[in-house]
Amino acid sequence: MLGILAFGVLTIVIAAKYFKKSLTYPIRRMVRHIQTIYRTQNFERRLRSKRDDEVGRLIMEFNQMLDTVQERENELTLHGKQLQRLVEVRTEQLYQKAHFDSLTGLPNRYLLVDRLHQAISKSARTNEVLALLFLDLDRFKVINDNLGHQNGDLLLKEVAKRLSKIAREGDTVARLGGDEFVFLLENLNNPQDASKTARRIIDSFKIPFHLQDHILHVSTSIGISIYPADGKDDKILLKNADISMYHAKEKGPGQFSFYTHDMNKSSLERLAIETNLRSAIDNNEFYLLYQPQMRTKDNQYKNVEALLRWKNPQIGDISPGVFIPIAEETAIINQIDLWVITQACKQIKTWKEQGLKDITVAVNISAGQLISDTLLEHLKRQLMIYQINPAQLEIEITEAVFVEHSARTIKTLESIKKLGARIAIDDFGTGYSSLQYIQNFPADTLKLDGMFIRNLMESKASQGIVRSTIILAHSLGLELVAEGVETQEQLDYLTHHQCDLIQGFLLSKPIKPEEIIVFTQ
Ligand code: C2E
Ligand code: MG
Ligand code: MG
Repeated sequence: MLGILAFGVLTIVIAAKYFKKSLTYPIRRMVRHIQTIYRTQNFERRLRSKRDDEVGRLIMEFNQMLDTVQERENELTLHGKQLQRLVEVRTEQLYQKAHFDSLTGLPNRYLLVDRLHQAISKSARTNEVLALLFLDLDRFKVINDNLGHQNGDLLLKEVAKRLSKIAREGDTVARLGGDEFVFLLENLNNPQDASKTARRIIDSFKIPFHLQDHILHVSTSIGISIYPADGKDDKILLKNADISMYHAKEKGPGQFSFYTHDMNKSSLERLAIETNLRSAIDNNEFYLLYQPQMRTKDNQYKNVEALLRWKNPQIGDISPGVFIPIAEETAIINQIDLWVITQACKQIKTWKEQGLKDITVAVNISAGQLISDTLLEHLKRQLMIYQINPAQLEIEITEAVFVEHSARTIKTLESIKKLGARIAIDDFGTGYSSLQYIQNFPADTLKLDGMFIRNLMESKASQGIVRSTIILAHSLGLELVAEGVETQEQLDYLTHHQCDLIQGFLLSKPIKPEEIIVFTQ
């Protein structure tokens, strides 16, 4: 009995061991394997088994399951990486968009202000000088209006490239928008160092810009503000650099100006002019004076130039040299020019009724007017309403238009010409127009700028320019008007060299229409 019992126990022990080895052990290995995978996240390891029984099959299927899991895991990892790359690219794009100007690739206002903040904090600790150079292209609006936005954009890109070349390491060149750029200069020894950079920038504009079909002579005006002298924070520094840029513009194209405290006062005056200009037509604050021109052939006064005057109850008399540029920047000029045409036509009619029949009136028109049909249509209507011979009206366009001309501008000028009105090129000699342009333009008159007359008797160079312009005008079949004649010697010289018409204070200042009657008799 005992023997049987012992045998039974032994058999159970042996069977238990066998089961443990063949069943429990592989299952435990699998459990351990799962735990290791869970811990290490490594799905590559497989269980090995040579067994051909149920357990062997279980292990094989377990391994196949691991294959699938690993495949999924690899896919997930790949997706994860792609997603991460996408997020990185998008983050970079968003950063670029938020901090850089999309047209030129330069830092935008946001990034400039950020860098300015950092630079100010650093300079406050180290006592180093900072400078902000505020640039604005001269007559960019005229270029944009005449050559179209595409060319305007091309020019801005070229300007950005040129400015980036001038910048040294550590400088920031930003585009604020439109044609406004800013240089932030750090670590300056003294404020005057900023003027060296300003000069370098202005000089770099002396080389013309080559766009697709155009060669453009462009200049820039620069206003400079210095930290800490001109402001303690970014807003004031930018505002003061902007104000001084306007002062630079007043000096003429291609100039720079440091900020001074007086400028704030005059920028308020400018604002007052701009605000009052908007209501000047409705409030009847404009009027025209007429400056007679004398024909040297017979000393007759049959030509006059209409010159605009503005009297505002608050500000007083404001010269056109001051308000016309502001009107041009703010587009108020469009209404002003139309108003001037109407008044001139009305005046021609009044003079006709008073017996003055054969007078020619020149009116000044801003360049921007020529890119649409508004001026032409207005002109047609006024000529009809007041029953005027179109040849009695001469449209004066400043020489700059002939440089930045476009097909549209020429078309408008040709239509004006077809109407029978005359065209004069004003301020001749101050722009950069080439002779080829003038040859192809439908002009009737050249008006030589007063700057060549002012020192005519003292300067051999001015005499040469005057003589050759007279010859040039005549050989192109144009009449020449000399502006700004103030002395008898100048008049004699011009008459001797057969200048056709003389205009200037020597003969008469701009006068009221009633007084013109006396002149022409
Ligand atoms: P501009 O068309 O070249 O006009 C000639 C300017 O020279 C006038 O200045 C005239 O008063 C001035 N002038 C005439 N004779 C003499 C002289 O002997 N010596 C000196 N020193 N100056 C003389 P004004 O009236 O102040 O006009 C300045 C500019 O404003 C004009 O130059 C013209 O470009 C613009 N402007 C005047 N009226 C109008 C207008 O109705 N529309 C537009 N768009 N611009 C105008
Ligand atoms: Mg004029
Ligand atoms: Mg002129």
